[in-house]
Amino acid sequence: MKIFPSMVKEGAVVKENATANIFALGSGRENLMLDAKTGSTVTSPGKIEEFDAIIIGAGFAGLYALHRLRDQMGLSVRAFDAASDVGGTWYWNRYPGARCDIESIHYSYSFSPELQQEWTWSERFSAQPEILRYLNHVADRFDLRRDIHFNTRVTSLVWDDNNKLWKVGTEDGSIARAKYLISGAGNVSVPKVPEFKGVENFKGEVYLTSKWPHERVDFTGKRVGIIGTGASGIQAITEIAKEAAHLTVFQRTPNYATPNANAPTDPDIDRQIKAHYAEIRTKSRNSFLGVPYDQAQPSALVVSAEERRRVYDECYTQGGFRLAFDSFADLLFNKEANETVAEYIRERIRERVNDPAVAELLAPKDHPYGTKRPPLETNYYETYNRKNVALVDVKNSPIDAITETGVRTTSGEYKLDVIVLAIGFDAMTGPLLQMGIVGRNGLKLKDKWADGPHTYLGISAHGFPNLFMITGPQSAILLYNNPLAIEDHVDFATNVIQYMRDHDFDTIEPTLEAETKWVAHVNELSQATLFPDTDSWYMGANIPGKPRVFMGYLGGAHAYRKICADVEAKGYEGFSLGRAVTKVAIAAT
Ligand code: NAP
Repeated sequence: MKIFPSMVKEGAVVKENATANIFALGSGRENLMLDAKTGSTVTSPGKIEEFDAIIIGAGFAGLYALHRLRDQMGLSVRAFDAASDVGGTWYWNRYPGARCDIESIHYSYSFSPELQQEWTWSERFSAQPEILRYLNHVADRFDLRRDIHFNTRVTSLVWDDNNKLWKVGTEDGSIARAKYLISGAGNVSVPKVPEFKGVENFKGEVYLTSKWPHERVDFTGKRVGIIGTGASGIQAITEIAKEAAHLTVFQRTPNYATPNANAPTDPDIDRQIKAHYAEIRTKSRNSFLGVPYDQAQPSALVVSAEERRRVYDECYTQGGFRLAFDSFADLLFNKEANETVAEYIRERIRERVNDPAVAELLAPKDHPYGTKRPPLETNYYETYNRKNVALVDVKNSPIDAITETGVRTTSGEYKLDVIVLAIGFDAMTGPLLQMGIVGRNGLKLKDKWADGPHTYLGISAHGFPNLFMITGPQSAILLYNNPLAIEDHVDFATNVIQYMRDHDFDTIEPTLEAETKWVAHVNELSQATLFPDTDSWYMGANIPGKPRVFMGYLGGAHAYRKICADVEAKGYEGFSLGRAVTKVAIAAT
């Protein structure tokens, strides 16, 4: 209580109502303990602000959540982002070649018919600068920036059960409080820490694809080495090879990359889609992947070899994720079916790469197609026909160390001027766990998830009231066109909030029983597929020591949406809703 006047002096912004004042008085001491810089009690608490809702992140999720909560529902909202501007993943991943892998006309917001009509993509699969321009346009169009604090990393999120609100600590020592917490922190936003010995000794330049500089990186005349051949590496390799004097690709696991068939936007197709956008979005949401593909045939094994080849040829030529999701429905469930498509892709690699030994090294044989996220490409394999590109197998001869002058593997040393690390992310759980989330009764999310994520619907967790994890682990995000998956989750979360406000509830969290059932359901679905046998970031297998568990819901967008709609229709079945009895009692005294 003694602390309250000093909080006001320090510039606390407290809502002008009795309840908010009681929050401030009642929780001042705990706020001091939350100081993010010192981690302990301090004499100067810094700035304390109160909101109805706090959003983490200003990418696709954070921007839409802010618009919905503030502009459509009238809540006071503050968003935080560590970046200096909007964009999320598209702010950070500026590496050469970065572009989306779902057709832009579908990889975009659907919430505003006007926005859909006024924006025209220049390419079928837009590159990072254009997607970032789009997100900037969205931020300007809906006047979102004024409620986003940039350059502000959230370092602690602690539930205050006395006052039924979240206390959000940031790197600068400020504290904000809100009843609802929306994480739009993303799923592939925490870079994997490079585990290479000696990386700090390298005398040249080192770049991470996931934290690429804003200034152009000039590779002209340089010997460049790139580690990693996932979606990021494959896109970057193709572009860097065009500029560098020499490019060495350090490949541990070859990937099944297939063409995106990118092209400039066809104005006729654009017009047609825009004339029927609403129906197309509905078709997307009713499909497995959230893209309006046609129905895949049931099995690759019941058709003739000729028909199978025809389907694969058609999907391969049309590009995008058609080969995986628009050909045969059993590819991710049946090893034999998967082998038909895997061998088809290997054949295409052999056709495209001149040197048979290099082609063989590029042809994946150790995991089924699609069980690592399949990258899309333009001329990736032809890149290995260039004289200035060399492929080094670091599966059989692992990287031993990064030296002052390059990369040393167990079989040789490669002199380099630049090293590009495209080594991936601590995906799905990483972004949430790094924020220091502490729920009811001091329960740390990192302890709760010590053996892998436990969520209900991938959006909420027992013991963490009023926390909404947009496209969190065990949601449908892994195989669901991300902007639509994000909109669905934001709509779900904000509908919950509206429901709570309409019915005067203060808290919502899933029951342990509902959560346990959901985790079992997610695991059961994944066990029916080929995913668990492959070491992938989907399984957490790319991060040493991370629990090995599949982190997504595999029933597809349509099935997932139906489950969420049923939960909503039944008054949020599986959740328990509560009223803050103590708050009412305090306010009455
Ligand atoms: P990633 O798929 O995890 O790929 C990381 C690569 O680095 C893999 O080839 C991995 O080899 C290699 N690697 C990691 N540690 C290594 C080590 N110690 N030695 C040698 N190689 C090592 O990461 P990403 O390419 O950044 O992609 C992550 C996800 O981001 C994608 O799957 C996708 O969901 C998203 N993304 C999307 C787009 C898009 O939509 N266009 C573009 C880029 C990324 P192993 O396979 O052997 O582990």
